[in-house]
Amino acid sequence: MQDFLSTQQPIAIASPLPRKSRQARVVWRNNVVTVGGDAPVRVQSMTNTDTVDAVETAIQVRQLAQAGSEMVRITVNTPEAAAAVPYIREQLDRMGEYVPLVGDFHYNGHRLLTEYPACAEALSKYRINPGNVGKGEKKDRQFGQMIEAAARYDKAVRIGVNWGSLDQELMARLMDENSRRAQPWDTRQVMFEALISSAVDSARLAESMGLNGDNIILSCKVSGVQDLISVYRALAQRCDYALHLGLTEAGMGTKGTVASAAALSVLLQEGIGDTIRVSLTPQPGEARTQEVVVASEILQALGLRIFVPSVTACPGCGRTTSTTFQELAKQIDDYLRGQMPLWRMKYPGVEAMKVAVMGCIVNGPGESKHANIGISLPGTGEAPAAPVYIDGEKALTLRGERIAEEFQTLVEDYVARTYGTTAAAPA
Ligand code: SF4
Repeated sequence: MQDFLSTQQPIAIASPLPRKSRQARVVWRNNVVTVGGDAPVRVQSMTNTDTVDAVETAIQVRQLAQAGSEMVRITVNTPEAAAAVPYIREQLDRMGEYVPLVGDFHYNGHRLLTEYPACAEALSKYRINPGNVGKGEKKDRQFGQMIEAAARYDKAVRIGVNWGSLDQELMARLMDENSRRAQPWDTRQVMFEALISSAVDSARLAESMGLNGDNIILSCKVSGVQDLISVYRALAQRCDYALHLGLTEAGMGTKGTVASAAALSVLLQEGIGDTIRVSLTPQPGEARTQEVVVASEILQALGLRIFVPSVTACPGCGRTTSTTFQELAKQIDDYLRGQMPLWRMKYPGVEAMKVAVMGCIVNGPGESKHANIGISLPGTGEAPAAPVYIDGEKALTLRGERIAEEFQTLVEDYVARTYGTTAAAPA
């Protein structure tokens, strides 16, 4: 083994690179969500209710916001949907939920934003897809109508390009020009170029039409992990607008979660991306809020944000053949997440708490000592006792049938004692 003192360079500590984008503001009442620059990377989500159903939509928006979504996008696809938007906003305001609403427009956004001024005003941001604003000479005119509404009501705009609805006239032109190169690019590279040009050129056009460039956010979504990384690296070099990141049509369950985490983590580590959305297809019976949970976990795992107390749990192995520790880890995790809407207000700083639930004596006491509060359950053949560690010290040992309930009470007491407003600030 190499002598430690003869090692010249300490190991570099990894951390995400700083972001260099401009800062946009997405505002509703006194809730100002800054996006880009030195603002935290924001979590977004989108409803899947029929926007015309204002009550159902407001309920889902609230659920997404309570799960941690800092902006919520809703489809605005018909006159009826546009007419419902102010009522959705009103319902949310009445519930004291001031999360900014983002309107998702395709094909007819120019008409809806012009003919339904209350909708244009109730939204805090408009998502415009340059591939779906119109064709030929109508394109710039209809795009201009939407930009005019954004400028009039002082709203942020996301120019959101998607490879599934890429501007076909632009793509055809670039393919044509590419064929005249001595060494034509790969079709995929031309498509990447079309995505980026569509976004950046539309943003510059919007600025020339009078929109404040600071209030423009760009996205160029594709569904392949390596493709997304390629496109956003180039996009970030090409402009300094704030960027919204997301793998489009990520898919269901584990596949969608892993693919999104893989793509977004690489980019966020490189300082690329100011807001994120995880486009998960909900599994039957799964809550829509799962996409917010995954997005938050990605940011928390990278050390970019802290949303909820983390539960460290071991994977289990042949040393613990019972499912007790798995059940306890799940119960504690659900409990902590369920408490967060209330705790966030009542116990500032609680989101940084670490809880450990471990399966046996091998790593149990060590990992529990690293947590604020941790429990080491007995593995196979160990005495039926579960030592609990609080702030690095063994505090007590739980025994019997009610270990789970008693540990949850200990966590609750710890939170109130440590993060309550009258408690001393945690170290
Ligand atoms: S802490 Fe014990 S039960 Fe858990 S993985 Fe390690 S050895 Fe296995």
